[in-house]
Amino acid sequence: MIEFKHISHQYDHLPSVHDISFSVNSHEVVGLLGPSGCGKSTILRLAAGLETPSQGEIWLKGEKIADATTSLRPEDRGIGMVFQDYALFPHMTIMDNILFALNSQSYNKLSQGQKNKMALDSLEQTHLTDYRDSFPHQLSGGQQQRVALARALAPNPALILLDEPFSGLDVRLKEQIRDDMLHVLHEIGTAVLIVTHDSEEAMFMADRLLVMDKGAIIQSGAPVDVFCRPDNAFVAEFFGEVNRFETSVKNGMADTPFGLFPVEDIDDTEHATMIIRNDGLIIDPRGEVTDAVVVETIMLGRYSIVHLELNWQRLGAMHLHARVPGITWYDAGTEVSIKLDNSQVFVFS
Ligand code: ADP
Ligand code: MG
Repeated sequence: MIEFKHISHQYDHLPSVHDISFSVNSHEVVGLLGPSGCGKSTILRLAAGLETPSQGEIWLKGEKIADATTSLRPEDRGIGMVFQDYALFPHMTIMDNILFALNSQSYNKLSQGQKNKMALDSLEQTHLTDYRDSFPHQLSGGQQQRVALARALAPNPALILLDEPFSGLDVRLKEQIRDDMLHVLHEIGTAVLIVTHDSEEAMFMADRLLVMDKGAIIQSGAPVDVFCRPDNAFVAEFFGEVNRFETSVKNGMADTPFGLFPVEDIDDTEHATMIIRNDGLIIDPRGEVTDAVVVETIMLGRYSIVHLELNWQRLGAMHLHARVPGITWYDAGTEVSIKLDNSQVFVFS
């Protein structure tokens, strides 16, 4: 549906994104994941035609729509957008808010009857038919978010762009709305490019992830593959809290407080980075380390974070965090044994 070919862009003379290449196919939800300021929104703005690339080409449905010298107008691209601030018109009914999206010149050929049908179809797709005559303030935050989606869907766009669409919603509502929205998007089969800085949300929504840092795509793939096989420490750390420390690698083995850990493709070095996800430290009587001491336990209900101190010849006293599922409590000062879940351990040169 859309393809970015070696796209770079600057704001005034400040580079924002550099040499970005990717595509989104129909029926596919692609997630752009990265920290604030890494260039995610800029990519959406380039796709929408609100920014022009300084280098590279953007193609939509087999036609070039932008390069450094030409750019198809946003209203002629047939791309729907939903932003974090979904900005409905407060004095218009839901139906009129959606019809407004069909008012631009591009839809001049359509009769009012056709426009009404398109608006009603998109209300039905988003399960909002009963609210067509309501005003935005009569709807919950989640319903308003669905109206924003309905408005973006009304012109039957080839591609939908979603920029942090759930960040204004409270946690419980967010889970429900994104579940609803995912079902709607799957039913319609439009290509979707969604931006988020929340790794769980990205994993939930996306069929494919593009992880970004400092204006570049640093890893892409199926969410589970990126999660299980991060290419570097930045990606590994982006999926939740980790324990990170320096180690050495010799003959394909990294030194750890838990004994030697096999690594692939790393030459002997005194300076490798070891990352153990908090879930990867397991408190278990059969653990290799038998004298870790509990510093404190923080219970969060669904899981507890246990702060541990252990001694390792190489680095001395180490402070580690273990994430233990369920309601779990260890008194400070308790000695515990720990083992590793090897699938949650990564070593990078
Ligand atoms: P993200 O959406 O990942 O948080 P953005 O794409 O909004 O990142 O921003 C990328 C970079 O471009 C940031 O350094 C940001 O400060 C800068 N930037 C964004 N919008 C503008 C603008 N309108 N003018 C100048 N710089 C901008
Ligand atoms: Mg942004």
